[in-house]
Amino acid sequence: MALILTMNPASEFQTRYRSLSSFELEAIALKRSAILPPQALTALRKELDRRGLSSSLRRGIDAQVRRWTKDDLAAFIEQYRHRPCPRCGVQGRMLNAVVGAVARSFIVTSTVRTKLLVGCSSCMRTELERLSKQSLLFGWWGIPSGPAYTVRALSMNSKAKAAALGAEPTPELCNYIASNAGEIAADTRSVYRTAR
Ligand SMILES: [Zn+2]
Repeated sequence: MALILTMNPASEFQTRYRSLSSFELEAIALKRSAILPPQALTALRKELDRRGLSSSLRRGIDAQVRRWTKDDLAAFIEQYRHRPCPRCGVQGRMLNAVVGAVARSFIVTSTVRTKLLVGCSSCMRTELERLSKQSLLFGWWGIPSGPAYTVRALSMNSKAKAAALGAEPTPELCNYIASNAGEIAADTRSVYRTAR
């Protein structure tokens, strides 16, 4: 049992936070919570909840994100990329984001809809292939725009597939994180999911 505990960083954080005073915990929430690794954030959230202090976490995260410089944001993006994949839950595959597209035709109209995909490269590839397959099945037959929209969706998806395999964070990922930094910093759902 002791071995399992020492190998589980989440419970190490929990033990550490449990030993701190409420004043110290609030100070961590106000000054450092937005950059804590997800497991530490989960433990901090649980301990603040237990003591009825959870609103200070949200306030702290908002205040920190508002003060972030470009370098802080870049560091946060790097940290986010190590989180478990929000689609398959696997950890250790660098997360990234691309925009995929799906063409659909109805009786008199055709559409191309775009979709932001955030996940590991294999989840993004699977989803892009699904969108391309749907476009081929349901996109092409609308006259006059169906075929052109289908070609456009397929070409967007093939470019996105190449970007999904790249090692660098895509502009789509950076934009997504920059515009949702507070939400993302506060969100540990993926950690809860893999912990079960
Ligand atoms: Zn995945």
